[in-house]
Amino acid sequence: MTQFPVEDCELVVGGLHLSRLAARVGQTPFYAYDRGLLSARIAELRAALPEAIQLHYAIKANPMPALVGHMAKLVDGLDVASAGELRVALDAGCPPGEISFAGPGKRDEELVQAVAAGVLLNVESANELRRLAEISARLGWPARVALRVNPDFELKSSGMKMGGGPKPFGIDAEAVPNLLAEVGRLGLAFEGFHLFAGSQNLRAEAIVEAQRKSFELALRLADAAPVPVRVLNLGGGFGIPYFPGETHLDLAPIGANLAEIAQAAAGRLPGAALVIELGRYLVGEAGIYVCRVIDRKVSRGQVFLVCDGGLHHHLSASGNFGQVLRKNYPVMIGNRADAPADTVTTVVGPLCTPLDLMAERMPLPEAQPGDLVVIFQSGAYGASASPQAFLGHPAAVEVLV
Ligand SMILES: *Cc1c(COP(=O)(O)O)cnc(C)c1O
Repeated sequence: MTQFPVEDCELVVGGLHLSRLAARVGQTPFYAYDRGLLSARIAELRAALPEAIQLHYAIKANPMPALVGHMAKLVDGLDVASAGELRVALDAGCPPGEISFAGPGKRDEELVQAVAAGVLLNVESANELRRLAEISARLGWPARVALRVNPDFELKSSGMKMGGGPKPFGIDAEAVPNLLAEVGRLGLAFEGFHLFAGSQNLRAEAIVEAQRKSFELALRLADAAPVPVRVLNLGGGFGIPYFPGETHLDLAPIGANLAEIAQAAAGRLPGAALVIELGRYLVGEAGIYVCRVIDRKVSRGQVFLVCDGGLHHHLSASGNFGQVLRKNYPVMIGNRADAPADTVTTVVGPLCTPLDLMAERMPLPEAQPGDLVVIFQSGAYGASASPQAFLGHPAAVEVLV
């Protein structure tokens, strides 16, 4: 499962043996993100997708400033979901024209900041549209607007569904035509549509179907738009494999489908930029989480490694970030990389809760206190998606290597 090399029994991360990297970082636990792997993933994606498709990074997946700075140079834009993320994106040097801001519940202060910055606002409701118009008129600066549409279909087999049916995200597709008439009357600068149907999908056919339906829906809605559509964001949802039996997403059919869409768009929506926005897929596999074994104990025949990190730094790996069934992320003893995995081991963190579980009954090499436990597939929804204050342990450090 891992893309990281092994040398002298040790995982190698950013050119350093893991124990050396741990010494360089100065503490465990830490997250390490590999620049080379981030760049390689984007190059691979660019090669598989038609040139006409713009690639955005949704920084919610990993908002570490240095990482966002690295990504900003490689993608065509950044998507933010709060004013805090907007600040990170602007600090990273991303031009405001290439930033879009989606998210239900944008506060007035956030709308002011976005209008002042000149970024594209993906509007999520009729009320938000009216508040935005009022703010834009009061400030005297034009607001750039796209409507986020809650589609009338779902992204099938998604880890998390975010469109179709009743949803807090976006404007129901059937309500969009009336609202488009209002956009013109309110004096807002309309630019296009944003559709985002779901997350963590490993089935190319499901993504292809959602992208095709999104495009068709956008074509119907474009007829009611006050001005020609300039931006059509078709969402993302590309997943990565976490668990045994899961395999990498097949990009070929997605690329072929997007090429067809791009060709149709050139005729039907001339001048419109086609965007996809990805978080997890771009960064998830480039990151690891590393913690150190504090204690090894055997309880009624079961081996436990008790570590200095766990759920409070890495909620997703503990299975408590929206997962229905808990499954083990890929785990390795990073300083015993070549040793046979002959000991059934349960890896836990230091918290006083049975939820603080990082690997349950997994075959691993025989490990000892001081060893380094590595959790792969940790570059997305890790540090920033975890309750780091829970129980008052030190926060994890994050490094880009
Ligand atoms: C969360 C989110 C993303 C990123 O989703 P991934 O599954 O990480 O690719 C993209 N766009 C929007 C609107 C989101 O809410």
